[in-house]
Amino acid sequence: MPSADHRPPPARQGTIRETNLALLYRLILDAPAPVSRAALAAATGMTRATASTLADALLAAGLAAAVAPPPAASAGRPAAGLVAARTGPAGLGLEVNVDYLAACVVDLSGTVRATATRHADQRGREVGAVLAELADLAREVAVPGLTPVGTALAVPGLVQDPVVAVPGAVPIPTIQRAPNLGWQDVEVTDELRKLLPGTPLPLAIGNEADFAALAEAHAETAPVLCASAGLVNEGPGNTGVAAAVDRSAQEGAATQTADFLYVSGEIGVGAGIVLGGEVFRGARGWAGEIGHVTVEPGGVLCRCGARGCLETVAGLEALRRSGAAVAAAALGRAIAAAVNLFDLPAVVLGGVYARPDLAAELVPRVAAALAEHVVSAAWAPVTVRASRWGEAAAAVGAATAVVRQVHADPAAWVGIS
Ligand SMILES: [Zn+2]
Repeated sequence: MPSADHRPPPARQGTIRETNLALLYRLILDAPAPVSRAALAAATGMTRATASTLADALLAAGLAAAVAPPPAASAGRPAAGLVAARTGPAGLGLEVNVDYLAACVVDLSGTVRATATRHADQRGREVGAVLAELADLAREVAVPGLTPVGTALAVPGLVQDPVVAVPGAVPIPTIQRAPNLGWQDVEVTDELRKLLPGTPLPLAIGNEADFAALAEAHAETAPVLCASAGLVNEGPGNTGVAAAVDRSAQEGAATQTADFLYVSGEIGVGAGIVLGGEVFRGARGWAGEIGHVTVEPGGVLCRCGARGCLETVAGLEALRRSGAAVAAAALGRAIAAAVNLFDLPAVVLGGVYARPDLAAELVPRVAAALAEHVVSAAWAPVTVRASRWGEAAAAVGAATAVVRQVHADPAAWVGIS
């Protein structure tokens, strides 16, 4: 069944059947190869009949797909295996950044199926015009056979975690402050819902560095689909995404790490802290504002109102003025503080920092600064590398966040409660 008709029911009490369904789906999602029904029953301790019924429910809902066994897998009748569906429900990720817009579709296997970016200065633009162009981009990344069931929007700023005032009401997140866009207390949910109708999951909004960190931790590449079949839709003058996909295809999933600091450089500088594969968001969702760590007391006035913030030294405009060496030294000091605080074995540089020319200058310099300032570096060096996703990272992560919502609660999609 395609996903278009699925509507998650209102909040439900978890039942054993729902828990079992989630357990079974998780096994399918995490398995490196297709899993047979017998293997699912054995791994979960369910009876073969129960495992088979739940597997049928996942297949009928379009959350899983059956694949043929390899030829001559065994004597007798070989069993078909189950995998995450590559058609049907999908996640749509959107990003507004200071000098570009991006969109991405990720399928339920976690594979990036299409990305698109458009470069233009977004500062001072009317919010409605920005959202309308994002909706255009969303249509541009439409993939035949995939239906977005939810949308997540990445912004370069602070997003107020949704507060549910009325039990059962849909929480509405608010963009509290995106200083580099000039946005303050902006509510985009209604407008985006009008522009992109028909997704059953509520719109999610988050910080771009948090979403980019999620992409780094979880998204998979589809080099054949993206690079060869032309599903990477690029705007004029944009070569970053294709390069990122190529790099990523070469590096593969082995580059994924569970604990790292993702530092995103644009006009502003943001960070995502990933611990145990999950983004650490802080008490109110505002963690990771590394761009406003003071690196030059009494220095240049920052858009946040303070002086000498990291982004006044290492943000894109400062970087163009002062050069990579100055930016890398400041980045190294600020990142070392975070690494010392959180005991992180790896650092990923994203956004413009991942551009090959800049990465070549920044990665070794930041690594050298960490070797000097991280207390454990003498016996446990911190790995520093460029992002696999380049500019597309936050949109990829936003789409991945939607997919992870479906993964976490498959019962909402199969109506078995
Ligand atoms: Zn600041």
